[in-house]
Amino acid sequence: MLPRCLPCLWITFCLHLCWYVDSGEAQNAKEVILMDSKAQQTELEWISYPPNGWEEISGLDENYTPIRTYQVCQVMEPNQNNWLRTNWIEKGDAQRIFVELKFTLRDCNSLPGVVGTCKETFNLYYQETDSEVGRSLRENQYVKIDTIAADESFTQGDLGERKMKLNTEVRIIGPLTRRGFYLAFQDVGACIALVSVKVYYKKCWSIIENLATFPDTVTGSEFSSLVEVEGMCVSDAEEEADNSPKMHCSAEGEWLVPIGKCICKAGFHQKGDACEPCGRGFYKSSSQDLQCSRCPAHSFNDREGSWRCDCVDGYYRALSDPPSVACTRPPSAPQNLVYNINQTTVSLEWSPPADTGGRNDVTYRVICRRCSWEPEECVPCGPNVGYSPAQSGLVDTYVTVMDLLAHANYTFEVEAVNGVSDLGRTQRLFAAVSIATGQAAPSQVSKVIKEKVQQRSIQLSWQEPHQPNGVITEYEIKYYEKDQKDRIYSTVRSKSTSATVNNLKPSTAYVFQIRAFTEAGYGTYGPRLEITTKEEDTAAIVSSEQNPVIIIAVVAVAGTIILVFMVFGFIIGRRHCGYSKADQEGDEELYFQFKFPGTKTYIDPETYEDPNRAVHQFAKELDASCIKIERVIGAGEFGEVCSGRLKLPGKRDASVAIKTLKVGYTEKQRRDFLCEASIMGQFDHPNVVHLEGVVTRGKPVMIVIEYMENGSLDAFLRKHDGQFTVIQLVGMLRGIAAGMRYLSDMGYVHRDLAARNILVNSNLVCKVSDFGLSRVIEDDPEAVYTTTGGKIPVRWTAPEAIQYRKFTSASDVWSYGIVMWEVMSYGERPYWDMSNQDVIKAIEEGYRLPAPMDCPPGLHQLMLDCWQKDRAERPKFDQIVGILDKMIRNPNTLKTPVGTCTRPISPLLDQSTPDFTAFRSVGEWLEAIKMERYRDNFTAAGYSSLESVARMSIEDVMSLGITLVGHQKKIMSSIQTMRAQMLHLHGTGVQV
Ligand code: AMP
Repeated sequence: MLPRCLPCLWITFCLHLCWYVDSGEAQNAKEVILMDSKAQQTELEWISYPPNGWEEISGLDENYTPIRTYQVCQVMEPNQNNWLRTNWIEKGDAQRIFVELKFTLRDCNSLPGVVGTCKETFNLYYQETDSEVGRSLRENQYVKIDTIAADESFTQGDLGERKMKLNTEVRIIGPLTRRGFYLAFQDVGACIALVSVKVYYKKCWSIIENLATFPDTVTGSEFSSLVEVEGMCVSDAEEEADNSPKMHCSAEGEWLVPIGKCICKAGFHQKGDACEPCGRGFYKSSSQDLQCSRCPAHSFNDREGSWRCDCVDGYYRALSDPPSVACTRPPSAPQNLVYNINQTTVSLEWSPPADTGGRNDVTYRVICRRCSWEPEECVPCGPNVGYSPAQSGLVDTYVTVMDLLAHANYTFEVEAVNGVSDLGRTQRLFAAVSIATGQAAPSQVSKVIKEKVQQRSIQLSWQEPHQPNGVITEYEIKYYEKDQKDRIYSTVRSKSTSATVNNLKPSTAYVFQIRAFTEAGYGTYGPRLEITTKEEDTAAIVSSEQNPVIIIAVVAVAGTIILVFMVFGFIIGRRHCGYSKADQEGDEELYFQFKFPGTKTYIDPETYEDPNRAVHQFAKELDASCIKIERVIGAGEFGEVCSGRLKLPGKRDASVAIKTLKVGYTEKQRRDFLCEASIMGQFDHPNVVHLEGVVTRGKPVMIVIEYMENGSLDAFLRKHDGQFTVIQLVGMLRGIAAGMRYLSDMGYVHRDLAARNILVNSNLVCKVSDFGLSRVIEDDPEAVYTTTGGKIPVRWTAPEAIQYRKFTSASDVWSYGIVMWEVMSYGERPYWDMSNQDVIKAIEEGYRLPAPMDCPPGLHQLMLDCWQKDRAERPKFDQIVGILDKMIRNPNTLKTPVGTCTRPISPLLDQSTPDFTAFRSVGEWLEAIKMERYRDNFTAAGYSSLESVARMSIEDVMSLGITLVGHQKKIMSSIQTMRAQMLHLHGTGVQV
């Protein structure tokens, strides 16, 4: 502390007026100074009144800077009233003014002889004005601020001198309303030195807080008031949503209570109190993010301040993708697309694409096109096709497409789609299949119009169903009296889309329903249409009663009509009508079945809503008492097969086979069991097993069939190996072909034609049997599951049926070729012990079964024709019957040339048959045909060269001690092939 001294004015009492001050006094940064007497070097020239009162005196401040002070010390005189007034002080923005006074004040006790007059205080006043008011001073215009007293007066110095303490007093005035003011000091007899007068107000100085700039703000007028200030975001920053930045300026000039904030905009990040752009290769997508991030995978940017990165070529970002995720690309095509056709429904299944494009939102969409063959043109399938679960947006890897047209070609494209598939894709990637639908019943006849309603007839017309699924050959109009419900109903058929239903009762409500019929069977009935016939015209009856001529005429006409109707009905009834049949409850139902001439068509019983109705439409219900079961002859899928007798009233009793349904059957088993009868009952041909009838009302449920004494053909032939002439065998084949011709003409595809499914009667007549829907095949022990779904008897089935379930009469022809081979080889197993897989492969590679032993070449050629890869190239059953008939008529063509009963070398044939000419030894050859077990037999008999083997006859083979007929045949068949190859190679025959 350094002492500061003022020049001693007061001669009488001058005692070193010095004071101590703190050095380095800092100016308060919050203050705005309006007036500071210390700052003025020249005279202050304040007004002092009376002139001998306050006196302006120069001095030095703590920094030895000259300062101007005012002093007064009239302590000896009573009644002092000395005024000192400052110059006018303009207040500026201020509302609340601080007045800081620094002064010394002498202790009256230290002044001898002044008791009574000496004072130790002075008064502080102010006067507000809008401008300077001149130099006159009127006391009453001043407002008193306070009486100022010294904290301390004198202290004793170390040297015995009396030191004065510098007092600092601050007073606050406000709120001020005028532009400026004066301060005034009233001395009433004290000894004062006014060292400095500082007038200031306080401000909150501009700052940046939370990235918002707050401007200089003057404090409020009250001590307790806070001034709310809105901040402004720094550049490249923005206000946080619903959180605009605010601060409060306190009376003390301090910023308090920050609320809200600014944040750096997208593309910028905070550095100190500013926002700086993100660097290259970095981005900040949102103001909410704190930091810039590196560009995600497959994206880049080459500018600063980016809010996102651009995708590299071939990669995209979906609209919904945030900039923080990697750029992605469309997926590759789905894999392993497979399909399954069921009539007009196609099920597609596939595996997910190998490349999902880096996304996990892969879905699938299916594009369906219907195609015509020539020219090959495809059009979108349109809205009538149904998709389950949907056509697009598929999450799972399967879809079922329904309501396709029957017998139509379709292409399905399955495309994998992800969130960026529709962005800039140039090439669609999809898996596709082309398929052909099967047959299906027509859709409903729904638009029926009543054209004419009479007393006894109603004329109807209707529109063709929306999906005919084939050529509609007729419509069936079912009708019944409304009161009777449909327990008793009648049917009328029409070839056109209109019909008149006659013989109705007058004033009666009838219900009509119509369904369409195509090759694929009946569609379902359309909605019920109720029509009431007109009332009877009593007037006409009355008037005719009055006129006997009219009565006679009416009776005559009516009689004629009835007669004609009865005769017609009788003829039709004999030829085609069904009989009255009982439904399950035993009620009588009446059927009028007016059939049209022409080819009879097979009707799929599955198209019947009620399968029981199908059974009763096609099969005769037999009375169980007419059937006598004698013995069990076999085991069927649903129960035992027995033989027995059937004695119908008025007929001779007949041998029958009786298929029974085992007890404890389910409803489905019953339906499936009777299904065979519904199919068989539609056939009437000498080479198709004949159905006698069914027993559905009693137990067990039975199917009664004509008895085929020799059972199934394969077993029969094996039993009688080698015992028939070629003509006999060809006769059997001819019968089978004729039965198949009949079935194919009716539009029935057998799908499981094999010798085991042919029955033989006592006259060696072969008849096709084993009918059913595709599921019946499932019960065939030969049927195995293939990759295309469903069970297939591979060895008997055409490649297109195995590969894509294309079952047609042409595929039945292939099977027929196999049956020919089975017959000619006396029940040998086609392809011997090759595995099913090897059979499929061999057929695909062109291999075909060689001619069985003693097989006329013409027959083998016919087999080969049946096994043409292109199904259109295969002969029709009609042609097969023709060829066989020709052979039977010319038995010479059936002779096997001696030593040359071989197949012709055909490119279609036997590409995988071993090349026998390449074998070096008999052992090698036997090994190749898997007959090495007979190696010693051949050696012992002296057959050491292939040439000697090639000359062997069946007798020679048997003489080796090979007793198994199958092995004899296999060896003999191989010898024949070997002989043919040698002939082909050397151009010479081998003499047997
Ligand atoms: P299925 O259930 O038709 O395969 O018949 C089983 C077995 O019963 C057949 O393999 C035949 O041996 C025998 N069988 C079936 N129907 C007849 C029939 N109409 N005449 C003689 N035997 C039959």
